Amino acid sequence: MTDEKKKADCRQEPGTLVPVVDRNRCEGKRDCVEACPYDVFEIGPIGPGERRGLTIVGRLKAFAHGGLQAFAVRAEACRGCGLCVVACPEHAITLRPRKA
Ligand code: SF4
Repeated sequence: MTDEKKKADCRQEPGTLVPVVDRNRCEGKRDCVEACPYDVFEIGPIGPGERRGLTIVGRLKAFAHGGLQAFAVRAEACRGCGLCVVACPEHAITLRPRKA
């Protein structure tokens, strides 16, 4: 599917829904980065705040993957197409209404 086709399938107004990444599931595999036609995601290091909230399993995953995870750095551009939700092999992404 071309990027233009993907964009045509995204029907929400930008920022109506935003992707939320489950820090205990994300393994930074980049599938969401590749799937999103609006470049919402980047892979980067988890910070001390995120690290503190991890479960034991989450900490082990983070250690195993170099502390890199996906971040919705341009969440306001999300069109709610769901491609990232489907693409994530760890089922780490959900779409939620943006908080006012
Ligand atoms: S739902 Fe996911 S893939 Fe679609 S625009 Fe939003 S962040 Fe990108």
